[in-house]
Amino acid sequence: MVIPRLRHITTVCALGAALAACGTADPAGGARPAPAKSPVSASPSASHPPVLAPGPGGLTPVFEHGPRSLGKTVALTFDADMTSDEGPRAAAGEHFDNPDLIGALRALKVPATIFMTGRWADEYPTEARSLGHDPLFEVANHSYSHYAFTDDCYGLPTIGAGNMRTDVERAYASLHQAGVPHALPYFRFPGGCYDKRALRTLSGLGLTAVQWDVVSGDAFATDADAVTQQVLDGVKPGSVVIMHCTLSAAPTTEQVVRAVVPELRRRGYRFVKVSDLIGASSGHR
Ligand SMILES: [Zn+2]
Repeated sequence: MVIPRLRHITTVCALGAALAACGTADPAGGARPAPAKSPVSASPSASHPPVLAPGPGGLTPVFEHGPRSLGKTVALTFDADMTSDEGPRAAAGEHFDNPDLIGALRALKVPATIFMTGRWADEYPTEARSLGHDPLFEVANHSYSHYAFTDDCYGLPTIGAGNMRTDVERAYASLHQAGVPHALPYFRFPGGCYDKRALRTLSGLGLTAVQWDVVSGDAFATDADAVTQQVLDGVKPGSVVIMHCTLSAAPTTEQVVRAVVPELRRRGYRFVKVSDLIGASSGHR
């Protein structure tokens, strides 16, 4: 069931709708979290968020999901996608934000992690600031440009290795300028595409790259029920779910959240942030 959906998404992305993580299943090469040493608990202090230790040779570590054995917790993540050349589309009325989705998360009291591009923060500084000041949310880095960090990534424009660090740092600068006071040291690669070169290039920045283990399939979806079912089928204890906070590319996400959240709670799940899962995985807390 997943494969046709992914094939569809890949096709759409290849046609140049360059939004979205266009999520795939686990890319190879991700480092595994360290063995769990402590239970998942409340959010860590913003000034000392937990991170994973660097991988072999100092490579940027990659986080995919939390411990499977520490109870039914799940982290919803939302990529706030906007590519650096999409300003004219926003000016023409296209919505790369999704205030109703954020409103639903607040109404349902669901903690969430937002991976925001710098270009998105430039376009929607009031919303970025509001997210950055709301303890329900944590805001992390999804690059400035939303260009790909590998050569072949669903048709996204590619950023050269020489510009990768600058792009990440520029995103932090945009987030800060918009009023996000404590953007976390977590980075989600555009499209989820990375390789050793990208992990090596970003090493030394203190980042933890954050992938996922559950593809919601909300990118370019029109059938909210199918996306809802895919999430419910995929979630396991410690899961990280990738969704989008970009109305034009993911129009069903609010509806999906309103269906998924009560059902997962009914099944005994508790919603946490990515930092909670990383903290539990790294033994930070
Ligand atoms: Zn994205």
